[in-house]
This record gives sequence, C-alpha cells and structure tokens, in this order.
Amino acid sequence: MLGYGTMGGKVTVYFSQKLPADPRERYRALAERGYAPLFTLYQEHGDNIIRLRKPYVCPGFDALLAEQPRGDALITDQPGLYIGVKTADCVPLLLWDETAGVVAAVHAGWRGTALNIAGKAVHIMRDEFGARDIRAAIGPCICKHCFVTRGDVPEAMPVLARPYIERFAPGQYRVDLPEINAALLREADARDVIMPRSCTRCESETYWSHRRHGPARGLQVSLIGLREADA
Ligand SMILES: [Zn+2]
Repeated sequence: MLGYGTMGGKVTVYFSQKLPADPRERYRALAERGYAPLFTLYQEHGDNIIRLRKPYVCPGFDALLAEQPRGDALITDQPGLYIGVKTADCVPLLLWDETAGVVAAVHAGWRGTALNIAGKAVHIMRDEFGARDIRAAIGPCICKHCFVTRGDVPEAMPVLARPYIERFAPGQYRVDLPEINAALLREADARDVIMPRSCTRCESETYWSHRRHGPARGLQVSLIGLREADA
C-alpha cells in the first residue's frame, strides 16, 4: 500500500503501489491514508472526460459504486475532494494548475493514448476552468520494452508518436506509451511533465501488471486533490 506523492502546498498527488481488487477494501485502504472522499470512474478505454464543478459534493462510496459513472478522466476545481484513476499497465496521468485551482486524473491505455485523452484534458482545464500553467506527472505504467504489440497499436497512434514506436521484428512493435503521452501533453502546452519512475510489468513485486498477472489481479490508484483553504 506504499506509494509516492506529495502532501503540502495546494495540491496533493499520490501514486499507489499494489491495491486490492475489491473496491470496498481498496477504498478503505486509501481512506485510512487520508485519501477520502475519493471519486473514481467505471473506466472504458474511451475519451469521455467528466467535470466535477465547484460546488460539488461527492456522493458516498456506496452511491458511487452503485452509480458507476463512466469515463476515463476526471477534472475538478472542488477543494477537499480526491479524484483518481485505476491502472495495471495503462498510463495514469495527474495534471494540476495550482494558481487556477484545478486538477485532473486521466487513464490512458493505448486506446486512450490514440484518442489523445491527455491533450483533451489539458484543453478542457484551460478552456473551461481557466488553467494557464498546467503541470503533469505520469505514474507507474508499462515500459517500452514490456509493451510489445502487433501493427494495430502503432496504426492507431497519432503522427507525433512515431519517434516512440520501434519495429523490432516483422509485425512486432515496441510502443512507448509514457513517452507518447508526455509528447501529447507538451503539444497541448503542459510543462514540467514528470516521467514514471517504474514499470508495472518489470516491477511486478510492487505493482499489479495486466500483462504479467492477467485478469486475476488488483490494481494501482493514482489520485490528486486540491487542499481545502485554511478556515
Ligand atoms: Zn517494463
């Protein structure tokens, strides 16, 4: 349940290590570390981005579990609320503008990457929430050496991804998803993109990896929140 992140300032960022598959156990483990209330989505590898606008009151865990809001990214300007995405090889991205007071959590697998969900989140933060100075951190995800694909993945990628795709055998490719997402963020004008420290598949003792562990696994949660102003 360890992980890394920052506490202090206006923004809290946290990338977990292995968490349980059971949503209730997972929520409890995160709440015990102070990461509550937490809003997560029923993720579908698309590019639907949910806005939680101030003033927003997070429904309780049970309501959220029953409701299963669908999408792959969350944006909020509501302090005191954590938003998170779940991954186990896919790329988690956390974005923030401390001055404007807006944060985002984005889930980008290869389909979300091909749809440029990262860039779309940046544009919404800027156009709808007044962000001007967006920073980003990419959490633990599958590395280029572990993400071996057939031609369908490279074919779906935007032109800017080409330097990060390597053909190493006929019909076999290595695709660098974190680098492609960093390039998409920079293209959308985010700055100081922090790259992942870890590969979920290489470090399978610490992280759940879909490619290593298969479907019978837990997952990681990457979350972000705005601190409530001192009363
Ligand atoms: Zn790896």
